[in-house]
Amino acid sequence: MTTNGRQPRVAVIGAGPGGYPAAFHAAELGMEVTLIDPEANPGGVCLYRGCIPSKTLLHVASLLGEAEDAAEWGVSFGQPEIDLDRLRSWKDQVISKMTSGLGLLTRARRVRFTRGLARFDGPHALSVEPSDGGDAERLNFDYAVIATGSMPAAPPGFQIDGDRILDSTSALEMADVPDTLLVVGGGYIGLELGSVYAALGSTVTVVEMETGLLPGADRDLVRPLERKLNSAFEEILLSTRVASLNVRPDGVDVELAGARVEVPSRRFDKVLVAVGRRPSSAGLNLAAAGVESDQRGFIKVDHQRRTSAANIFAIGDVAGEPMLAHKATYEANVAAASIAGHAATYDAQAIPAVVFTDPEIAWCGLTESEARESDRPHKVSTFPWAASGRATTLGRNDGLTKLILEPTTERILGVGISGRGAGELIAEGVLAVEMGARADDLRLSIHPHPTTSETLMEAAEVFFNTSPHYIARKRG
Ligand code: FAD
Ligand code: NAD
Repeated sequence: MTTNGRQPRVAVIGAGPGGYPAAFHAAELGMEVTLIDPEANPGGVCLYRGCIPSKTLLHVASLLGEAEDAAEWGVSFGQPEIDLDRLRSWKDQVISKMTSGLGLLTRARRVRFTRGLARFDGPHALSVEPSDGGDAERLNFDYAVIATGSMPAAPPGFQIDGDRILDSTSALEMADVPDTLLVVGGGYIGLELGSVYAALGSTVTVVEMETGLLPGADRDLVRPLERKLNSAFEEILLSTRVASLNVRPDGVDVELAGARVEVPSRRFDKVLVAVGRRPSSAGLNLAAAGVESDQRGFIKVDHQRRTSAANIFAIGDVAGEPMLAHKATYEANVAAASIAGHAATYDAQAIPAVVFTDPEIAWCGLTESEARESDRPHKVSTFPWAASGRATTLGRNDGLTKLILEPTTERILGVGISGRGAGELIAEGVLAVEMGARADDLRLSIHPHPTTSETLMEAAEVFFNTSPHYIARKRG
């Protein structure tokens, strides 16, 4: 592929799970690629301050939980001793292993990596402010891919100081394990990081302004988690907001507002604010390049991820919800292929969502709530893990697997799973939805026994009322 007889020059701004795959793919397609990011190596929020450090710590939390559960089965390990310095260093090793690996891959693919913050000077030019000071570098490009991700949001008046008032970034640094922690926001981050701190010994209280935790997920999927968290956390306060936060030398004074709050004035050692994220687009000087964003700062893109400037693409968190790493990577391939002139379009039917709590919650495609709200004809077929042999051997019957089906065609439109390892299991659901599989396809595919993967097959069996292990009560 050439532009005016030479390789097209592509600038990729931001090296997260959107940016680095876009750069790698564009290089494979024969383009001359520069990847720009302030960190020493690619990785982005996901590797440095998001998915990877949080899952490293959640694995430890799950190990602690399982060790505690084992007492029921006659195996006691005694009180765990936590060496926070070693735990922190283990987490940092995981990050460094992965990011340095990406550094090697960047060089191997002959992608030029420039360390700094980019800003547009025009539709074909940008400047990079180097991370180590020095003069800005000017760069001309034929195409650009904006993959600058997102940053934590905070309600007005909440000052994140990284000491008493934390966001996910400072919480993952794990300066200490506070005796008491207030988590504001019962979404992904609040529940994942709240679970980590609770497992390490903090007394955790969660406040969520909506009527339920994880407002986007189906209620039956959330219920098993809610039951577990009710004992892991001190308190979960729904329909509640934080009216004020006042940092004192020895804690944070918090005023809670909500109809069911009995004690509105409380003191916590630390507060974690996890109320969502906002796109990182403000510092890019988008106007100079003719790139339009919406009121919230998300860059507007079409089905190829092309922005209002024909030669500039945007992918990942900065290009809109859902803010998930695998969605960013999917878009990266669409954008790189579109630049190369290949037919590529963003048409995912099933972007999986996984909450890595214990139990995990995962879903893809159409949810039951969405089907109901949109009046879309559907049937739901649920297999409870109480009837799963594998779940029983694990002492974890607290799950369920359900299929959302189109009644006339029996096509699988969505899958929801709540239970241990749900995040791994949902991949089969994604394939089923993307391939347009019908209930029969799942029912007739032999699943290995005893595994929790059988619950997908059994949910299809329930649909035909042929499950050997469970008889569904008729709904409605
Ligand atoms: P990012 O990963 O945000 O990367 C953007 C990069 O661009 C950053 O390195 C940034 O420094 C850089 N940048 C910003 N501005 C500029 C500029 N002007 N010039 C150059 N570079 C710039 N998602 C999942 O799918 N699974 C999970 O388990 C998961 N866990 C998470 C846990 C936490 C605590 C958090 C905060 C997020 C988590 N996410 C998870 C979300 C996931 O991290 C994001 O969806 C994903 O990182 C988005 O990728 P991205 O490439 O769009 O941007
Ligand atoms: P979130 O949108 O998942 O949850 C925020 C929660 O805070 C919501 O339930 C919301 O109702 C609540 N809230 C908002 N304002 C509030 C207030 N003033 N008081 C009380 N509650 C309030 O956002 P998050 O947890 O910050 O995570 C941000 C994004 O990062 C996620 O949406 C997701 O895209 C991504 N993420 C993904 C994973 C994963 O894939 N496992 C993990 C972490 C983060």
